[in-house]
Amino acid sequence: MTLSRYRRRHLIISIPKLYRNRNALEMHGFLTGDGTTPLEFIEQARGKLNEYRVVTFVDGRVVSSAKVGQVFEVKLEDGTEYAGRKLIIATGSMDFLLPINGVLLVYITLLTSGFAELWGTDIVHCVCCGGYEHRDKPCATIGLRSDMELDSAMKALSVASSVHLFPHLEDPDLVPLEMKKKTLLVRGTRYHDHAVQIHY
Ligand SMILES: Cc1cc2nc3c(=O)[nH]c(=O)nc-3n(C[C@H](O)[C@H](O)[C@H](O)COP(=O)(O)OP(=O)(O)OC[C@H]3O[C@@H](n4cnc5c(N)ncnc54)[C@H](O)[C@@H]3O)c2cc1C
Repeated sequence: MTLSRYRRRHLIISIPKLYRNRNALEMHGFLTGDGTTPLEFIEQARGKLNEYRVVTFVDGRVVSSAKVGQVFEVKLEDGTEYAGRKLIIATGSMDFLLPINGVLLVYITLLTSGFAELWGTDIVHCVCCGGYEHRDKPCATIGLRSDMELDSAMKALSVASSVHLFPHLEDPDLVPLEMKKKTLLVRGTRYHDHAVQIHY
């Protein structure tokens, strides 16, 4: 937006339908955008930027970039090349989803789809982004490895009816005992000493 307002001609290249929150039904916690779908948000943002007539949107995957003399050159998967004086890389981050394909039995809930299908809807990565939509229901957090993660998981207590904490399968003892004891004092939480049982 700032580039557009300075009337700098620019090109935005992105891979169609590949953005981090693509699985979420709605966006939350973003003022004026709360409740919109991620795709609607992108379309609205593009519409606003297009009004300045200095931006070009390109759908494609960048496979290489290099500085050649004074310019940056980028190459797309289909062989198309672009050049510009500046290059901003804003590729975001990628979530590695657990390879759970069958039935996930998480103490109180029987989820009949795999991790990937539930990611962004029934499995939320952040309490603020998707927790409110599951308010007043029991919630399980899996894979806890540190007191920091435990602290973050405890935030679910402000929206969920109860929080069941499960340690990481490989490092069940990494969460300090003191922290575990503290959670037991909080109403509505339970620390389970065994890791989540997964049935494939
Ligand atoms: C399930 C889920 C729900 C979320 N819900 C919320 C929410 O409700 N509220 C909130 O504030 N945040 C939410 N987030 C976090 C939010 O999605 C991220 O903070 C945000 O997407 C980060 O923006 P970004 O531009 O850094 O990355 P992205 O949105 O992922 O954008 C990166 C862009 O780079 C492009 N790209 C990557 N590699 C290439 C390449 N080689 N060539 C061309 N283009 C490329 C991609 O196509 C994409 O357009 C959620 C995240 C997840 C996973």
